[in-house]
Amino acid sequence: KSRRLKGEPLAHIIGEWDFYSLTFTLTPGVLIPRPDTETLVDAGLAFFSRRERGRILDLCCGSGCVGIALLKNLPDTISCVFADTSEEALAVTKENLVRHRLTFRGLPVAQNALESCDQALGKFNLIVSNPPYIPDGDIAELDASVRDYEPHLALKGGADGLDFYRAICENWRGALRTGGRLYFEVGIGQADDVLRIMRAVGFGDIEVIPDLNGIPRVVWGILHTEI
Ligand code: GLN
Repeated sequence: KSRRLKGEPLAHIIGEWDFYSLTFTLTPGVLIPRPDTETLVDAGLAFFSRRERGRILDLCCGSGCVGIALLKNLPDTISCVFADTSEEALAVTKENLVRHRLTFRGLPVAQNALESCDQALGKFNLIVSNPPYIPDGDIAELDASVRDYEPHLALKGGADGLDFYRAICENWRGALRTGGRLYFEVGIGQADDVLRIMRAVGFGDIEVIPDLNGIPRVVWGILHTEI
């Protein structure tokens, strides 16, 4: 009781949390899955609705909740690479892959999304990413339960909050096949900026999808010409 009164998130106390009707193991070293992020999963599933096989990259995977929710709702012929710079996140993703019996379809790898991608990972049909996107200066104003208990590594997106969108568009579009798609979760008010960043590096047919509260939450586009 007293831990809750001090503001500690319930998810940390019980060590797990539900997302997309699945239960995920958590530690304080990964972001607690948010309902907003279910919009990203819905969008990714829509892309695969007409495909029988393919490779997904969950970039900045944290607990692994996005990629695992996708795999759970897609055929066994579809696999996912889970990338994060945090060793703790990769360990949690691994636990969740075991928990959901997906170790044969999911591979956790250490990668920094801000740096160039490892060519050895191969090419993907779909990249999904919920990167850190809070402007550094706004961290102090977050709810105490977020600010004091959740990992700043998973929240801080640089001076304007857009560092990861720029870096991923620049450094990771080379990991997409021709016709491959990149789906981002974005923070409130960031959709237009992210759309422009994607367009500037060659993504086409860019669309914005609102979350259940009507807030523009997912921005996605197609890479028509492989690089
Ligand atoms: N949606 C989270 C929050 O508002 C931030 C998630 C993120 O930075 N990717 O706390």
